[in-house]
Amino acid sequence: MKVDIKDDIDIKWSESERSCGYFVNVIWPLLERGHEVDLYNWLKDQCLLRRTGKCPEKFCGTDMTWTKARVRDKFNWQCTISGCVGRLPIRHGSFFSNIHCEIKKALEVVLGWCERRSIEECSLHLDLLPKVVSRIYKQCIEVAADYVSMHPEEWSLGALGGVVVVDVFPSIYMSPKFLAKTSPTEPRPKRILCIADLKCLPPRIWMSLLDEKPEDRKKEKREKKENGEDGMASPPPKRKRSGTKSLADREEKGVGAVLAHLAQVVLPGTKVVGSSRWVPLQPLQRLTGLSGTSVESLVALDKPDSKSALNNLREIWKTAAEICEEAQGLPRKDARCYILEYMWRQIHGSSISSAMENILRHIAMKYSSDKIFESNALFN
Ligand SMILES: [Zn+2]
Repeated sequence: MKVDIKDDIDIKWSESERSCGYFVNVIWPLLERGHEVDLYNWLKDQCLLRRTGKCPEKFCGTDMTWTKARVRDKFNWQCTISGCVGRLPIRHGSFFSNIHCEIKKALEVVLGWCERRSIEECSLHLDLLPKVVSRIYKQCIEVAADYVSMHPEEWSLGALGGVVVVDVFPSIYMSPKFLAKTSPTEPRPKRILCIADLKCLPPRIWMSLLDEKPEDRKKEKREKKENGEDGMASPPPKRKRSGTKSLADREEKGVGAVLAHLAQVVLPGTKVVGSSRWVPLQPLQRLTGLSGTSVESLVALDKPDSKSALNNLREIWKTAAEICEEAQGLPRKDARCYILEYMWRQIHGSSISSAMENILRHIAMKYSSDKIFESNALFN
């Protein structure tokens, strides 16, 4: 759908933002003053707002309808039974339900997230409180993270005759500067398994935190249950952990987790290139059926003046290493979401336009369940 942009639109986005064709062509015309109903109809069509409503059970459970109201959204769901006081906001049970700004501004914030703008920049730009922008960004990240967790089929790595490169952050092939500045007195870094699939250009990088504690997963599941959210697909099962925390034990468990992940996400017939520390070749063959080559043997062939294998490795890991380094400063749960967001962007956010289109689609998928609708009535 191509829609001409009219001069009187309240243009707040710079040239770079206008490069988002999906936003400009599809959404922007709906944000004009006086086009609220068009915007709401479009949001309903996209399943970003609920299309039907039932009066909460504590009232009468009858169908509801949209009626004009003196509220920010200009409409409410209202019970069709005369005299029943059951009402709900139109954004109830949607992505927007706990967002304290106009829906059209929230859409612009989602665009800001697609463009990887900082929270500060986006809040200044749209004249919104940083906490409002932060909440919307957090919800976008959760949607992206849930989507990646629930679609492992998008992450079948390698191919017959293909190559994957494997490493665990921090490593000398990935993050020599990070290693150099890490002091032994600091807490252990979060170890992150990274697998680069070389059949894609640029290489597509799958990542997972190692050393996940069973209690972290339990806590996260409990929180999700309490929030009424669906559980995410579980990551590959980890080996059972004993209580001992010796370095050798940690190392062994790390290798075990790496091989278990390789068995799960790398397709048969793929050649695995990894360091002998993390991907010992005999256990790799025995436990996963995959064949491998050690990184050390490739780097050993480098000429001292060119170091081409080493430079290629660092180029492959450049962005992933930055993500891993950023993740070090985050609580474990946020680090996990941050990594999954990066994975989502590799497939679904190759351009701002596709990021916007896809995140709205994935928001609709996450929030389209009707179960939330029955709760929380408005008492007017
Ligand atoms: Zn009712």
